[in-house]
Amino acid sequence: MSAEFVIVGAGLAGTTLAWALLRRGRSLRLIDREPPTTTSRVAAGLLTPITGKKPAVSWRWHELRPAAEQFYREVETVTGRPIFYSRPIVRVMTSDQERQAFARMEFANLLSAVDPPLSDAVPQPFGAVCMPTAAQLDSTAYLDASREHFRSLGIYTRGGWTPPTDGPTVILCHGYDPPTNSLFPLPFRPAKGEILTVRIPGFAEPRALNRGGWWLAPTATPGVYRFGATYSWAVMDDAPTAPGRDELTSRLGELIRTPFEVVGHTAGVRPIVAGRKPVLGVHPDNPRLVVFNGLSSKGSLSAPFFAEMLAAHLCDGTPIDPEVDVRNRTDHTP
Ligand SMILES: Cc1cc2nc3c(=O)[nH]c(=O)nc-3n(C[C@H](O)[C@H](O)[C@H](O)COP(=O)(O)OP(=O)(O)OC[C@H]3O[C@@H](n4cnc5c(N)ncnc54)[C@H](O)[C@@H]3O)c2cc1C
Repeated sequence: MSAEFVIVGAGLAGTTLAWALLRRGRSLRLIDREPPTTTSRVAAGLLTPITGKKPAVSWRWHELRPAAEQFYREVETVTGRPIFYSRPIVRVMTSDQERQAFARMEFANLLSAVDPPLSDAVPQPFGAVCMPTAAQLDSTAYLDASREHFRSLGIYTRGGWTPPTDGPTVILCHGYDPPTNSLFPLPFRPAKGEILTVRIPGFAEPRALNRGGWWLAPTATPGVYRFGATYSWAVMDDAPTAPGRDELTSRLGELIRTPFEVVGHTAGVRPIVAGRKPVLGVHPDNPRLVVFNGLSSKGSLSAPFFAEMLAAHLCDGTPIDPEVDVRNRTDHTP
């Protein structure tokens, strides 16, 4: 089947871009190797409005958050599968300094009191605040429902992609994959992350919790949560490690004072590019090569807005924001 575009990689980037192009009536093929673990399937899918030790509103939150909800709701309508949840996040303070930093800053509409209060299993000597506009994407449900839909359209192929000599425009959405990245070098600063899946008997908290950058998020199974995530810059692979597990269990023990059982442990590599912003656009020397990458640790939040920007650029020639335009962000010097 001939198609205008071949999208390489069906993670959050490639899948979201495929929807954006299909909505514009364009023809495409989507290809993915389907390894047992991928970063997009490991991700907790949290959309967090205020982040950082020194609290700050997440980059372009007020544009990205509504675009994300609108996009995921449309996918829910087409596929009939729930994938997106409004999920307040409660930030548990680790110090009086942190509490004061929150009190000092102006976070209009982004913070509220924690109501109902957290259970006694969560110590809060320095207090806590709620971020009511936070949300969570069930990334596995989103990717599965999308893949099923694309299969039904006959446009999805399982397999590894290698560069052909000619053919349609290729859009690389390959995450952190060094062999594929060599075709369109980007200044990657990847970070490996590990996550635990835990069962916490008697704990029933529908909100996500965040303490000191560590988060605990509910899953679709009552009593089962995901806790993460580590950051490491040594070995970039998807193998869970014993030190990673030790760190996670110790940090979870600081967040909740109630027994838990580890039922899963996964890892992935965050595709972070220098500048920590998404990277998109057409290769400066090859108009048939396009990239959409650099979703960093915020793919669920940023994929819809920037997939739409790239699709509009490819289909209608609208400009790409210079902040994320690949022409300003590559190492593509020969
Ligand atoms: C531990 C952890 C926790 C995270 N938590 C969150 C979170 O709470 N919220 C959030 O928004 N983000 C989170 N993230 C970040 C999020 O996972 C990423 O931003 C996002 O998954 C990146 O998506 P991607 O599609 O660019 O890459 P990937 O998910 O890596 O997808 C790339 C795909 O391309 C395929 N591929 C690559 N090369 C080829 C080839 N040559 N041929 C065929 N297929 C190929 C791969 O198989 C893969 O499926 C987390 C990440 C980690 C590691």
